[in-house]
Amino acid sequence: MKMSNMLLNTMKEVPAETETPSHILMIRAGLMRRLASGIYNYMPLGLKVLKKIENIIREEMNDAGAQEFLASALLPSELWKESGRWQVFGPEMFKLKDRNEREFCLGPTHEEVITDIVRNEIRSYKQLPLILYQIQTKYRDERRPRYGVIRSREFIMKDAYSFDRSNEGLDISYNKMYEAYTKIFQRCFIDCKPAEADSGAMGGHGSAEFMVKSEIGEDQVVFCSKCTYAANIEKASIMADRNPKEDKMELLKIKTPNARTIKEVGAFLNVTSEKIAKTLIYIADGKTVVVVIRGDREVNETKIVNAIGGVLKFEMAPVEIVRDITCAEVGFAGPIGIKCEFILVDNEILEMFNFIVGANDTGYHYKNVNYGRDFTGSVGDFRNVEKGDKCPKCGEDLTIAKGIEVGHIFKLGTKYSESMGAFFVDEDGGSKPLIMGCYGIGVNRTMASIIEQHHDENGIIWPLSIAPYGVVIIAAVIKNDEQVKLAEDIYTKLISMGIEVLLDDRNERTGIKFKDADLIGIPIRITIGKKMAEGKVEFKIRGSVEVEDVDINLIVDRVEKEYTRI
Ligand code: ATP
Ligand code: MG
Repeated sequence: MKMSNMLLNTMKEVPAETETPSHILMIRAGLMRRLASGIYNYMPLGLKVLKKIENIIREEMNDAGAQEFLASALLPSELWKESGRWQVFGPEMFKLKDRNEREFCLGPTHEEVITDIVRNEIRSYKQLPLILYQIQTKYRDERRPRYGVIRSREFIMKDAYSFDRSNEGLDISYNKMYEAYTKIFQRCFIDCKPAEADSGAMGGHGSAEFMVKSEIGEDQVVFCSKCTYAANIEKASIMADRNPKEDKMELLKIKTPNARTIKEVGAFLNVTSEKIAKTLIYIADGKTVVVVIRGDREVNETKIVNAIGGVLKFEMAPVEIVRDITCAEVGFAGPIGIKCEFILVDNEILEMFNFIVGANDTGYHYKNVNYGRDFTGSVGDFRNVEKGDKCPKCGEDLTIAKGIEVGHIFKLGTKYSESMGAFFVDEDGGSKPLIMGCYGIGVNRTMASIIEQHHDENGIIWPLSIAPYGVVIIAAVIKNDEQVKLAEDIYTKLISMGIEVLLDDRNERTGIKFKDADLIGIPIRITIGKKMAEGKVEFKIRGSVEVEDVDINLIVDRVEKEYTRI
């Protein structure tokens, strides 16, 4: 491509309303332009990168035996009503009506559509196993679109769905996708880690999120400092600390006027928050849920929701309800004698002795409380992992980092096939629900994540496998016919080898050309300058400071050598 013909506008300044490197650089390098909040147009250079990523995904999906299909993005509401998600999705779903007042949505994901396809197409076990995938635009009216295409309202997703006869079959399909994802992210030069993820009320190890460590990540990921264990904080399990046993002392109700928070109670009674249990009250679909947890710990709401069997609406109880069920002002709630439907006790409470809880009486707490003697409940793991907690696999220290989820693989089981009636006839003649898995990759989010990990102060540093063009050729003096001629010769030669090359033939200063080449992140730069007289041209790899002088007749081989590395 000759740059004089190319639609490319680069910017020096940091554009308005951009905060993260990938967003800043995607605009500055002219890869995309904002149309509205969370909605972007891809320019020719940006689209080339997007297609490169799509092709890597496509190749690996095909290699794993998946077949490509393409569904509509405009979806009738009936399908969503069948699965029950028309309401559940809430305001994130873009809903609209046709001229006859029929309701539709712009697809935020396609489980319903694919289930509808297979219930019509799959009749027999002979058609299984099957993995279908598409690379298609999704729409989600995100509450907070931000960081450019990392969280946008229109984005491209590769979504795949597997169909099997048995759970063992599902395991095989899931593992195939796991391996394909590992290869895809390797080929994109993204450093990411599969982390165990929450798989809803059913539990199990049926879900992994591919996480890119990043300060702007909106997920918290727990990593082991020693082994390969990684999990989303929503899921990460905890080994309970053991405390030395104490003799149980007599339960006492004590006056604690004005001491409501853990801090205030601790200061008033002169104990650390590890000696206090806090009692939190939630409302889950109208039912009261009480959670008891050590004073310095944080409740994990996902674990709570899973423990009570999955709910639609889950929130902290409003003040009036707290007053009603504790018969006290806020700040004095405790598990002894509280009125509620569920009482969930974090397993760490069993390791505490003679601790303090609220007395459900304004201005009072109980002292010398012991689980089992003074109150009981359903015991489980209900808190968030914290720094200093131990790895459930190897016992070493866990660390917590923020992560961006670029991909997600999930064992769905029969959730959609049962609710939407997708059955097949098995070998024994019986009718059984299809066992499903679903697998997503955010294509644009992947593109932005690559930039997050591959840039410097001058711009993007594309890995060769992703770069829109592999090589840029610059003649230092555009008025020097010999230089221009040599630049064109090398350009033609590289193109004939199937290499994607930019020839910067613009009538601009060389400094500007270098800046643009760096900003748009072209991996290989060839400059034809003064040394041409000695039979040499300059060869430079983006991101390295080294400039090699290469013999003119060896330059093509030098470029080829770089390509053999990917
Ligand atoms: P998140 O928790 O980040 O909202 P999600 O759990 O809603 O993600 P999935 O429904 O599993 O995401 O979608 C599959 C993939 O699509 C994600 O792993 C992510 O890479 C991508 N994705 C999801 N929402 C967006 C968005 N708003 N913008 C860009 N990519 C997205
Ligand atoms: Mg989401």
